Amino acid sequence: MRTSQFPLSTVKETPADAEIASHKLMIRAGLIRKLAAGIYTWLPLGLRILRKVEQITREEMNKSGALEVLMPALQPAELWQETGRWEKYGPELARMKDRHDRDFCLGPTHEEIITDLARHELKSYKQLPVTYYQIQTKFRDEIRPRFGVMRSREFVMKDAYSFHLDQTSLQQTYDVMYQTYTNIFNRFGLKFRAVMADSGAIGGAVSHEFHVLADSGEDAIAFSTESEYAANVEKAETIRPALNRPAPEKTFEKTATPGKKTIAEVSEFLSVSPEKILKTLVVTHKGNELFGNPKDFHYLVLLRGDHELNEIKLNKIIGAFDFATDTVIETHLGCRPGYIGPITEGHKLFPGPITAIIADFAVENLSDFVCGANEAGFHYTGVNWERDCPLNGIEFRDIRQVVDGDPSPDGKGTLTIARGIEVGHIFQLGGKYSEAMQAAVVNEAGKNQTIIMGCYGIGVSRVVAAAIEQGHDERGIIWPKELAPFQVAICPMNMYKSDRLRDTVEQIYQDLLAAGIEVLLDDRKVRAGFMFSDMELIGIPHRVVIGDRGLDSGSVEYQGRGEAASQDVAMRDLVDFIK
Ligand code: ATP
Ligand code: MG
Ligand code: MG
Ligand code: MG
Repeated sequence: MRTSQFPLSTVKETPADAEIASHKLMIRAGLIRKLAAGIYTWLPLGLRILRKVEQITREEMNKSGALEVLMPALQPAELWQETGRWEKYGPELARMKDRHDRDFCLGPTHEEIITDLARHELKSYKQLPVTYYQIQTKFRDEIRPRFGVMRSREFVMKDAYSFHLDQTSLQQTYDVMYQTYTNIFNRFGLKFRAVMADSGAIGGAVSHEFHVLADSGEDAIAFSTESEYAANVEKAETIRPALNRPAPEKTFEKTATPGKKTIAEVSEFLSVSPEKILKTLVVTHKGNELFGNPKDFHYLVLLRGDHELNEIKLNKIIGAFDFATDTVIETHLGCRPGYIGPITEGHKLFPGPITAIIADFAVENLSDFVCGANEAGFHYTGVNWERDCPLNGIEFRDIRQVVDGDPSPDGKGTLTIARGIEVGHIFQLGGKYSEAMQAAVVNEAGKNQTIIMGCYGIGVSRVVAAAIEQGHDERGIIWPKELAPFQVAICPMNMYKSDRLRDTVEQIYQDLLAAGIEVLLDDRKVRAGFMFSDMELIGIPHRVVIGDRGLDSGSVEYQGRGEAASQDVAMRDLVDFIK
């Protein structure tokens, strides 16, 4: 490609809403443009990278024996009603009506659709096991779309679904997928870790997440210093024995020591399994109009969304338990996204004197989304919650979160906490969807048998951003070889001044192309410094500068993107040098 035919869309300005490096660089390098919150256009350069992620994913999925399909993004509500997820999925599900007033949604994931396909297509055990996959656009009306394509509302996912007669077969395919994911992320050239995970809203028992390691990652993951144990922090917390960690002293400066509660006690009292308990927090406050008595302190327990417990549509968190009053504080429906509450008498859901109200997305950023209620409930209709949230004087301490140095749940060594970006997630779903939707085959004995399932996702568009988080410097992006939009940038010096130089540049360009190398020839009439900074910004791994000076000696000036200095390379060796 030549920049005259493949114009670069680099810009100097960093968008005001870009908080992390990848978001800034994707805009500056001209990979994406924002259309609306969490909705992006991929420009030609960005699309080349996205397609590479897709292609590697596709090749490895095909190698694993999975069959590619393409399912609709637009999905009828009936299927979601069959599994109960129409009610349970919450406001992240982008719902709509057709002209006949029938309910539809834009798929955030495809378990219902593939299970519907399977119950029609799969008739006999002889057709099992089978794995279908697609690379397709997903829609999730994220409460806080942010970080560009990292957490967007429309994004590309590779999702795969496997069908089995029994657990042994499911486990086999799960292992194959685990290996396939390992191969895929290795080919991307990214540093990643697979960790045990909770299966959350998707359901099922066994689950692993694949995290690209990066300090800017939204997730915390825990590794043992002395074993293979690796889990996301939520999982590390739920499977370990109750920490029984005392809350920090200063949280209780105003009052007597609160009664300690272990996770076991909490789970017993609430009759929920420990896995359902996402966080326990100690809340205290200095007292204000909303929070009343400054002596109060409270334990809050944030429960993982289990929609059998109640019908709250908010993500993950369904409620809190207040140990000060020994009451379960339920959250309620119908409030706008962003907070749970207020809990007023009118809703008859809040018998106790006080609670703080926390939504799951805010766990890492509690101060953004904490609201409170006092004895009478609060009656602040019209209040701008984002602006007027009564945060002052509230302290939160998570007494459950595992921290560096905690004992590893497997008893071997201690935990090290790192940050990660979730780029892949695999689940053993078991019968969750196939039972609800009656997907069965005739087994060897001639009887109908419900099949079981696994599902396997990769955040294709998120991988692009994650790669940049891992590979960048102050000058721009540093792509791993496999994801780079081009391998080589040719920057001719004053090309238009000499035919001899022009011919040489053309020859080198053609030689590289003939060797199957993706080259971007910068044929713009711009200063060398301008070319260099563009090529560095967009992160091309190899830069070749060709000038009059090298023509006589038959050499070019070569510099690798991550390297500090350039070197001369003989023109005739260039292809081999780069290959
Ligand atoms: P997260 O915890 O980041 O919200 P998730 O657990 O909800 O992700 P999954 O349902 O496991 O996501 O979907 C599979 C993959 O899709 C994720 O591992 C992630 O890489 C990607 N993904 C999920 N949500 C988004 C999003 N809003 N934008 C971009 N990629 C996403
Ligand atoms: Mg999510
Ligand atoms: Mg997740
Ligand atoms: Mg996930």
